[in-house]
Formats: sequence, structure tokens, C-alpha cells
Amino acid sequence: MTDKSLESSTLGSLQYDPAPELAAIARLRPSYGLFIDGRFTDPSTHEQFASLNPATEETLAMVSSANAADVDRAVAAARKAYDTVWSKTTGAERAKYLFRIARLILERSRELAVVETLDNGKPIRESRDIDIPLAAAHFFYYAGWADKLDHAGFGVSPQPIGVAGQIIPWNFPLLMAAWKLAPALAAGNTCVLKPAETTPLTALVLAEILQQAELPDGVVNILTGDGVAGAALVDHPGVNKIAFTGSTEVGRLIQQRTAASNKRLTLELGGKGANIVFDDAPIDEMIEGIIDGIFFNQGHVCCAGSRLLVQESVADEVLRRLVRRVEQLRVGDPMDKNTDVGAINSAAQLARIKELTDYGMSEGATRYTSSCVLPDKGYWFAPTVFADVTQSHRIAREEIFGPVLSVLTFRTPEEAVAKANNTNYGLACGVWSEKGSRTLWVAQRLRAGVIWANTYNRFDPSSPFGGMRESGFGREGGRHGLEAYLNV
Ligand code: NAD
Repeated sequence: MTDKSLESSTLGSLQYDPAPELAAIARLRPSYGLFIDGRFTDPSTHEQFASLNPATEETLAMVSSANAADVDRAVAAARKAYDTVWSKTTGAERAKYLFRIARLILERSRELAVVETLDNGKPIRESRDIDIPLAAAHFFYYAGWADKLDHAGFGVSPQPIGVAGQIIPWNFPLLMAAWKLAPALAAGNTCVLKPAETTPLTALVLAEILQQAELPDGVVNILTGDGVAGAALVDHPGVNKIAFTGSTEVGRLIQQRTAASNKRLTLELGGKGANIVFDDAPIDEMIEGIIDGIFFNQGHVCCAGSRLLVQESVADEVLRRLVRRVEQLRVGDPMDKNTDVGAINSAAQLARIKELTDYGMSEGATRYTSSCVLPDKGYWFAPTVFADVTQSHRIAREEIFGPVLSVLTFRTPEEAVAKANNTNYGLACGVWSEKGSRTLWVAQRLRAGVIWANTYNRFDPSSPFGGMRESGFGREGGRHGLEAYLNV
């Protein structure tokens, strides 16, 4: 076991003056009801819980806790809207609403970015430049499909499924809501969406946007709450389809509970992505790609490149450059526009990261930790790289879902492929090489839903995303994303 905390005095990073975004832009209400049938209503138990800012542990707003009775109300509203309005609209009419929602997201993008960063802990730079624009782009993209379903390759006049129950995680709250809602609505379904309990606020601002867009009542219902609300949605007999993004553990449970029903199911689950680096890869771009692959969004990314597989001949140089770059990452106030790595989303997630990294040390890996000074309050974890990792280490096998990279080495392309595939997951991988034929050879043999070449964490609404094996099944994004919401 070795711990090599990096000395900021020797490696040093440039100092920047603070450039904080204004928190007041969030315009949060003190408390929110459940969004059912086009309006905010009290939960049947009148129970609320606090949504915290993970960077300060302060309460941002109180939100309502939905139970089975609320799920029942929301599903009834979605069913009525489906039968009486939404299933009768033309594709062009549905597109009109989707375009409106997209435009309103852009109009309120600064507010949404601030709310997302306050609620999630991610750097404002990422909410502003990635989460919110991509969420709007999803609505724009699927607005374009709404009146072209007959020509989408799913046969003549494909029909919607009905009421979709959609359950999402906390790592990309608004973006995950957009991934779920946009294709479902374009295809003619109505929705009951359940955001994660630690990040409900942008979904509630989205509810306001749906009102502004004059989306017919009941077409989208948004229920805040925990796994109890999620389970009630999964079990509800009035739901025709469940779309779930979250942990493999809960995904497995949902698959069991829907097995004996007629419900359609798609699962987007965890991952342990391999970023494979060959000795001819352009080193500067590749180092940035590795950093982006694991430290983007504090590593709370299902497709994160959390296992770096580096060719032995360049391993020492890559590791040296990598730990130097890690030391330069600016960790701290997520609202500061200079921040690279923000707060960990919750105390529970921080505890999990600590547990797994402690294992990494006890199992004999060499640990490099940034010497950044962490704030006193809030949930923080310094960016960390583990070298000398072997395939049997827990940090090479389990999803840490934090800013922690495990570095392994290989000699031949065959060994790289074997190690990359040595996981129960199958969500994403990256390949870095100047040689196109080698990249293709490797990509064809990797068992993962998404493979990036000489880049990482690239997302586009037109590009399908999803996994295989324990990373789930079904695709979101692109033409493929429509299939999950159509009876084809
Ligand atoms: P989680 O599974 O704990 O929770 C996800 C959602 O499910 C939350 O809304 C939660 O309230 C709800 N839920 C919890 N128990 C439930 C139950 N019994 N029935 C129904 N719903 C229930 O996951 P998380 O911790 O919020 O998110 C992190 C996980 O999500 C990671 O494993 C990550 O890899 C995965 N993820 C996957 C993708 C992807 O596209 N593959 C994207 C983002 C996150």
C-alpha cells in the first residue's frame, strides 16, 4: 500500500480569482408540490423532504414525497391525457410542443444551470455548457421525428405504447429527464417521471416550463420522492412501459418485478468503462481525454472511463503526465466558473467512494491523490489515481462512481481487449491510437454499447446510447431511442 499525495508547491497550478455565478438566479420556491395533471398539488401524506446543496449542506427547497396513492393519481392523469388528447394529436402538433419546450429550456438556461449546480454539486461550467444545452437539443431532435414516425423504419403507422413510467438518477438530472421525456412524447406516449431524491429541482423547474409551453394537462406528471415512489410506479398496473436509469442493483429488482407483467422495459444501468491507450496515441490529447473520461461530473458518470488500460511501453510517461494534470484540476465551489471538479452529490455517495478507495489501498495499489484543499463543509473527494492495479482488485471491478481512476497495463491488443471485456458491465469504452485499423480491430472485439475513438464522453441526441450485459438493454437517443416508445 502506498499513498503519494501530490505536493502543490512542486507541481503548482495557476491561481485564478474567484468568478462565482449568482445563486439568486435560481429563483427557487421554498417548497414544491407534486406535478400532477398540469398543476402542483400536495402529496397525500403532506410529507416533504429537503433538497440539499451538497457543496454547503444547506437546504435549497422542500420537496414533496410521493407515495402509492400519489402514483395512482399521476398514472390516472396520464391515462386520461393519453386517451382523450395526446394519442389523438398529429405528429406535427406534438412537435410544436416539443419545439416550445426546447426553446423555453434555452430561454431559462442560465436559471436551469444554476439550479442544477446548486442541487447536484457539478461545476457550473458543465451545467451551463453541457447538461442544459444537451437537454434542449434532445427536445429539438425528437421534435423533428414526431411527424416522421411513418418513415422511421418501424413499419407503417407505428403506435405509441401508452403510459410510460420513467425513473432517473441524480448524476445528470435535467438531461436524464430530457432523454426520457422527449422520445416518449414524440412517439405519442404520456409520462410519469420520477427524479432522484437528491436532485429533484430542475425537474420541478421543467414542470413550470411545461406549464409555460401549455402542454395539455396530464401529458407529463412529475413525482418527487424516493425508491418507494419508484417501486409504486414500477408495480402500477396502469403503466405500459418502464424506462429506468440507475444502479444495476435496482435495475435487477425492476426486471424481476416487471417480469410477470405485460410492461415493456428498458434499463440503463452502471458501468466500468475501459479507456484503452496504445503507445502511438497523441499524448496531449489522450491525457485530456483520460482526464475528461473520469473527472467530468466528479466521475458520477455511468459511462466513465474509470479503468485506464495503458500499453506497458508508455505506462510510466502516461502516469507521470496524468498525475501532474490531476494536480492542476481546480476542485471547489461548483458555482465558480473556473472550477473543474465540484462536490460529491451526497453523503451516502461519498461514503461509498471512501469505502472503495480504502479497499484500493489495502489491496496493494499505489494511490496518487491531488493535494487540493477541500472545503470544510459539504461532501468532497480529492481527485485520485490508483496505479499498480490488478484485475482482481475491487477498484478494477466495481463501479466507484466518483473521481477515482484505476490504472492497469497491457502489452498486446489481444491483452487489452481481454482485460477491457473482463467485467460484468458493458456500457462504454474508449480507444486511443493513431492507427485506424488497430482502433477498428479493437472496437469490433469490445463488448460495450458505446465505443469512442480518440475522444471520450461525447454525446449527441442523434447518437444511440445504452449498454449490454449488466449495463442494461435498450437504447436512448437517435432513431433507436424512438423504438423504446413505439409498438413496433
Ligand atoms: P439508484 O438505482 O439508487 O436510483 C435511481 C433511481 O431509482 C432514483 O430515482 C431512485 O429513487 C429510484 N429507485 C430506488 N429504488 C427503487 C426501486 N426499488 N424501484 C424503483 N425505483 C427505485 O441509482 P443512483 O444512485 O441514483 O444513480 C447512480 C447509478 O445510475 C449508477 O450505477 C450509474 O452508473 C447509473 N446510471 C446509468 C446511466 C446509463 O445511461 N446507463 C446513466 C446515469 C446513471
